[in-house]
Amino acid sequence: MKLVIDGARIWDGASEFHDKGTIVIDDGKIEAILTGSERDTYKIPAEAEKIDGDGKLAIPGLINAHTHLYSSLARGMALPNYSPRTFTQILEQLWWRLDKALDPESVKMSAIVGAMEAARCGVTTLIDHHASPHAVTGSLAAVKQAVNKDVGLRGAFCYELSDRDGMGIRDEGIEENLDFLSTDDSSDLMSTALFGLHASFTLSDSSLSKVAERIPERAGVHIHVAEGPEDEEQCQAKHGMRIVQRLDKFNLLRDRSVLAHCLHINEEEKDLVAESKAIVVHNPRSNMNNAVGVFDMDGFLKRGIIVGLGTDGLGENMLSELFTAGILQKVSRGDSLAGGFPDLQKILFDDNPQIASLLLGSKIGRIAPGYAADIALFDYDPPTPIDAGNILGHLLFGIAVHDLHVCDLVVSGGIVIRDGHFVNVDEDALYAQSREGAASLWARIS
Ligand SMILES: [Zn+2]
Repeated sequence: MKLVIDGARIWDGASEFHDKGTIVIDDGKIEAILTGSERDTYKIPAEAEKIDGDGKLAIPGLINAHTHLYSSLARGMALPNYSPRTFTQILEQLWWRLDKALDPESVKMSAIVGAMEAARCGVTTLIDHHASPHAVTGSLAAVKQAVNKDVGLRGAFCYELSDRDGMGIRDEGIEENLDFLSTDDSSDLMSTALFGLHASFTLSDSSLSKVAERIPERAGVHIHVAEGPEDEEQCQAKHGMRIVQRLDKFNLLRDRSVLAHCLHINEEEKDLVAESKAIVVHNPRSNMNNAVGVFDMDGFLKRGIIVGLGTDGLGENMLSELFTAGILQKVSRGDSLAGGFPDLQKILFDDNPQIASLLLGSKIGRIAPGYAADIALFDYDPPTPIDAGNILGHLLFGIAVHDLHVCDLVVSGGIVIRDGHFVNVDEDALYAQSREGAASLWARIS
């Protein structure tokens, strides 16, 4: 299908900005960007779909490099006796109570709702980390269906393996990851698979041995690393080594592996991550909310490590997350120049696209010919001049701080949101159904 976005301001995601341009899309890819006289003489083909870009800003579709769609129905949930003092207690008192209550229906609903929230924020690719210990088998196919087909976004999916619910559920989690990996079709550019692991402190050596024996050679893992201080403390006390060394010992520190958080790893571990070319993902708002520590952004960037940005399931708003990533560096280091625009642009607009392109096998994250046609359009007519040099200022202090949502969203050349409304999903009916589903989910939490 041919799609033409006509007359928008266009930022390519790197260094080019056009005041008025036409994006020509064919067969899921960007075919051309037309400006000036080329645009003036271009005739939009009669059979093409058209989005009027007048008064709108087009940017590359955003990527959330670490999220948990299963947390989508937790909003507003009351938890009696909730008073965690440590990160492990947050998991025990909140997230592990919620995920145990998920059934196949609430897995599906939370994935649809989460993907819709992401789409509204301009996100076109989600790297999800799923857990539902009492509904393991088939859960990844359900999440994929919700993300890829029902809403229409790209995704990388995995099941969060752990020992915490017993060996039977652990084994089910291994099979779920392997089954999903075995169905991963490299020609399907909308979906890919990773092997999900919860964290070092919830996985015994025997569990990691089983994973190491059976994980396909080219598959990466997706794991929380040293999110709370107790993960490293437990690893050293129980295994006599640090977490990154332990992952390396089991040959899971790979170039497609996604390591979320990495707040408490030491300098030697950072060197090991750099050598392995594994990916690190920063989740500033979740880290602040859990009071677990501050990410050493400079330490990872200076080693040339790919540093992605994620939300860890705390919403899906990547531009607000980026805003927070910057101010967190400033406040924690007492330096107003820390977390500057170049670093922020790199993590969201260079490194996240690199991660998505590597995992999904497609060129993702630029509005340029040959790239996947993943485009977010905001109804944004700025009150101040805008160009390639100050675009980050507009994204952060215009769109992010005012929580503006997209007016149109295009993924792989298909329209997901048009004029503020979902094309494939009946929002009102789905939210009414979701409120009922969430109420019964909450009632099941013990
Ligand atoms: Zn997480």
